[in-house]
Amino acid sequence: MNRVSDILSRKELLRDDIIFLLQLSGEDEKILFRHAAQVKQETVGNKVFLRGLVEMSNVCRKDCLYCGIRTSNSDVNRYSLSEYEVLSAIRFAHENRYGSVALQSGELTGKSFTDKISRIIARSEELTGGSIGITLSCGEQSEEVYREWFDKGAHRYLLRIESSSRELYERIHPRDANHRFDARVNALYALRKIGYQVGTGVMVGLPFQNVEHLADDLLFMKRFDIDMCGMGPYIEHKDTPLYSYREGLMTLNERLQLTLRMIAILRILMPDINIAATTALQAIDKMGREKAIQIGANILMPNITPGRFRDSYALYENKPCTDENADDCKSCIDVRVHLVNHEVGYAHWGDSPRFAKRDVPKGK
Ligand code: SAM
Ligand code: SF4
Repeated sequence: MNRVSDILSRKELLRDDIIFLLQLSGEDEKILFRHAAQVKQETVGNKVFLRGLVEMSNVCRKDCLYCGIRTSNSDVNRYSLSEYEVLSAIRFAHENRYGSVALQSGELTGKSFTDKISRIIARSEELTGGSIGITLSCGEQSEEVYREWFDKGAHRYLLRIESSSRELYERIHPRDANHRFDARVNALYALRKIGYQVGTGVMVGLPFQNVEHLADDLLFMKRFDIDMCGMGPYIEHKDTPLYSYREGLMTLNERLQLTLRMIAILRILMPDINIAATTALQAIDKMGREKAIQIGANILMPNITPGRFRDSYALYENKPCTDENADDCKSCIDVRVHLVNHEVGYAHWGDSPRFAKRDVPKGK
């Protein structure tokens, strides 16, 4: 038995095992991918569930050093979709049997913003008779706001830890009261306490990041016992401070491949969670998301933001599908998913099986 097969046959992966697996290539990497695909087949099966992604607004109070829509970037056309526009996108998702939507935005904490989100959640419950699954990704909020949104009908929340290393987190964020590592972690615990299905994730291939950080990120997710994960390659944006650290970074393809290994290892570590095949994978490789589905991911987030706003939600360079309408993306979903021998689970929430086993208040 070679070393990879030996490690994969163990009941539990230790930190050193994960570090080793993260660095595989060639035939050994294929063994890892085959194993993860098998674990996936035996647990969540070959269904892919959809979350129609609505990028509600690119207005953000934060200044994350990697993000193209950070507040200090004056070269962004700021927009906020109206409630009507968000609800139209939700209606589209409902009519096309997507099962769920993911409502994402820059982070704002004022009452007019949080009330608007509350109204959108309540209206979409009315519009769909409570049948649409709602994932939110609107950054750090107070526990009261998280609770209000949960009570209105949202039941999943994605908040990436970005890096579980305090030291690395502080290097990729401004060191001020708005960007505290502890606040990020506490927000995840608040979401868990309220009863959300909690998702987190990291960027892969960041400046200053090494495989030890990434192994610790996976162990952080395991320890927190997340329900869902969304992680993707870091892709630099020229109008951000981290851009000046691009020399010496891995190539984009290396970041893609490392992200795939992260996904495969996470599937082995946490077989029954939901793992998203993220848009950033597709920005590097047209088949990036399909590759992720083959080796561990089971969630796809087709962008259903009205086409004319997509260019303005540029977190990084070459973000895909910015010139397409929701219909264009819809027509290719089935084809793409079938291409890798999977099926779309239309009209289903596709909740994380991990969450179903948990003893917490259930939303909706
Ligand atoms: N504002 C909310 C937040 O930060 O949680 C949600 C929206 S934010 C744009 C969603 C995710 O985009 C972040 O969690 C971050 O991981 C990712 N992101 C931002 N800039 C990126 C970049 N340059 N490359 C890859 N991913 C990036
Ligand atoms: Fe704002 Fe999120 Fe971008 Fe940070 S990552 S600047 S919080 S949109």
